[in-house]
Amino acid sequence: MMDRLPFIAGNWKMNKTVGEALDLVRKLKASISEVEGVEVAVAPSFTALYAVYKELEGTSIHLAAQNLFYEEQGAYTGEVSPMMLKEVGCHYVIIGHSERRQFFGETDETVNRRIKAALGQGLKVIFCMGETLKEREEGKTFSVVGRQIEGGLRRFGEIEIKGIVIAYEPVWAIGTGKTATPDQAEEVHRFIRERLERLYSREIAQGIRIQYGGSVTPENIKGLMSQENIDGALVGGASLKAETFSKIVRFKEM
Ligand code: PEP
Repeated sequence: MMDRLPFIAGNWKMNKTVGEALDLVRKLKASISEVEGVEVAVAPSFTALYAVYKELEGTSIHLAAQNLFYEEQGAYTGEVSPMMLKEVGCHYVIIGHSERRQFFGETDETVNRRIKAALGQGLKVIFCMGETLKEREEGKTFSVVGRQIEGGLRRFGEIEIKGIVIAYEPVWAIGTGKTATPDQAEEVHRFIRERLERLYSREIAQGIRIQYGGSVTPENIKGLMSQENIDGALVGGASLKAETFSKIVRFKEM
């Protein structure tokens, strides 16, 4: 089995002013700077990206944006292009988060276009997917996640897929305090990896990191990370405090 570097990312969503973002990132630098063997990224809101980038210079913590638009420039009021994100120091961009799909009309097709635009600008992508509670209860988890993978990755070859990290985030677990059990999460992660193998190759599928997201805390991270196909976490609520996020990043020490 291939060794995949664990990857913990904090999605700050629509939280933190620039001042608050800087305060958090300074505390994070102090608490996780010497942690090795784990990749870390934080995703502040657009307004705080550049300030956080400057504060992160010289550290190994990566900067991520929470979204982008797929056009290069033009009359798209309120949107932000891949180049703009690159310019302010972003390394990653989160695409297809369930809140974007639910509240802002994102579809597999627009997710696919966004991923393509991000990769074209040299950004790495955290590509989110996951089923709703209703879909799970109706036994549709695998068909929904399968459709999201294939739709989001449509027309991508081996070069593109290497720039992508997948985040499996069951919608019923996001911000609800209801985490998927390690077994429930592992079952879907295994399914995703098998689907990637079918779409690409065993080697490629083994190399792709799949994060879990949905009410991850310092208390449940260890159990999740002990699963064979869980390679990290996309953390919402618990990433807003340095104390909880740094404990999650330090999961190996537990
Ligand atoms: C998220 O929004 O990506 C997320 C997983 O949120 P939370 O950790 O708060 O459930």
